[in-house]
Amino acid sequence: MKLFTITRRQFIKMVSGGLAALGLTPKVKGTELFSSTSLKKPAVVWLEAQDCAGCTESVLSCLEPDLKTFLLDTAAIRYHETIMKAEGSIAESALDEAVNEGGYILVVEGSIPAADARFCRVSGKSSEETFVKAAGNALVIIAIGACASYGGIPRAGVTGGQGVSYFLDKHGINKTLINLPGCPCHPLWFFDTVTAFLNGEIIRIDAYKRPLKHFGQTIHDNCPRRPRYNANKFLSDWNNPGERESFCLALKGCKGYTTHGDCPLIKWNDGVNYCTANGAPCSGCTEPPFYDELSPLYAREE
Ligand code: SF4
Ligand code: SF4
Repeated sequence: MKLFTITRRQFIKMVSGGLAALGLTPKVKGTELFSSTSLKKPAVVWLEAQDCAGCTESVLSCLEPDLKTFLLDTAAIRYHETIMKAEGSIAESALDEAVNEGGYILVVEGSIPAADARFCRVSGKSSEETFVKAAGNALVIIAIGACASYGGIPRAGVTGGQGVSYFLDKHGINKTLINLPGCPCHPLWFFDTVTAFLNGEIIRIDAYKRPLKHFGQTIHDNCPRRPRYNANKFLSDWNNPGERESFCLALKGCKGYTTHGDCPLIKWNDGVNYCTANGAPCSGCTEPPFYDELSPLYAREE
């Protein structure tokens, strides 16, 4: 499946052709991103707070589309702590420059500590301080992964990590936010959403700000083990090959019936497989209660 339908050349042609729809979202007009005479690629500023860089790894590992194509044809990543070559004051200057110019897509990976800002600092500044400054000049904010969306795993710890929406509310910042949860986020959720935004498509979101295109159905809706669920065939013994291959994993803690995502349809690792098809219960990684309120992950919910 090829999700990139616009090259830089096509993009320039569309801009010069005056397509007003380019860059439109329900709240943001593309003309705020580019002037009609600008040939600059849209900028992306990618901040990391309390994360494992797993969402970065997920995006980097995707073969179709790949990050190289994204960078050449679609957007310019102006700041990214994990993948950028610069460090120290040069990296800080790159961030300051991009933020001062404004009008970028702000991607946030990882949760921001709510218990005490000192739990996460980069370049002597708290992640909350850096986020607030960057959010103020952003065109749109994408929270990538469970942690940036809803707090994720760090929310269960002493830092009290919270997602982007918490800090937007706290500081009274009114910006368009799209949550792309998951642990990690699926690379196609990211590439597809950014491309749709830049193409001016209306991105419909649910109550938790997840794009309905990818989060409109549950894992259970499309699970290949669903026929066995309907037939009350539940796996009780991992060592029984007759059960292991196709029986429903509900007794082993599967959260698929309340978890939204198109994993069964697009699969992971460039379409190779995904959790329940591979024998692992869905841990509910795209839902706001993940992780602390859904653990233990491999035990049946009471
Ligand atoms: S394995 Fe999970 S998602 Fe699949 S049918 Fe059973 S409960 Fe539903
Ligand atoms: S199947 Fe469930 S646990 Fe696996 S990636 Fe999808 S939402 Fe997350």
